[in-house]
Amino acid sequence: MGSRNPDRVGIPERFHLGRTVGDMARQRWEVISRCDTCGLMMLVDLKLIAFVRGPNVSLWNRKARCRRLLCPGHVTFWAKAPGMAGHDPLTIDTRVPDVRPGWVERRLAGRTPAGKPEDG
Ligand SMILES: [Zn+2]
Repeated sequence: MGSRNPDRVGIPERFHLGRTVGDMARQRWEVISRCDTCGLMMLVDLKLIAFVRGPNVSLWNRKARCRRLLCPGHVTFWAKAPGMAGHDPLTIDTRVPDVRPGWVERRLAGRTPAGKPEDG
């Protein structure tokens, strides 16, 4: 009676569990994209995104171009974590700006100045 129904745990409470596509894939979240214009819905391949873009990519508060030919719309992402009854939009009110994955920072920081001859 006093216990909380897992269905009632909304997506904001799960933010810390599935911040990145890597986290979501590991915990078997089901993520779909839905076009605001044409309504096209597609299953998001989390493992593919983690492979191509890196496991630290986040889909929270993200929009992407619709994949349907000639559709000018944008998709929003919806997620269903294990135990949830349905999909909730992946939006969160974070005052923190979207942090780039660490490897991007490292790549930018590690860039050596070009054309500088080495001593010796
Ligand atoms: Zn569309």
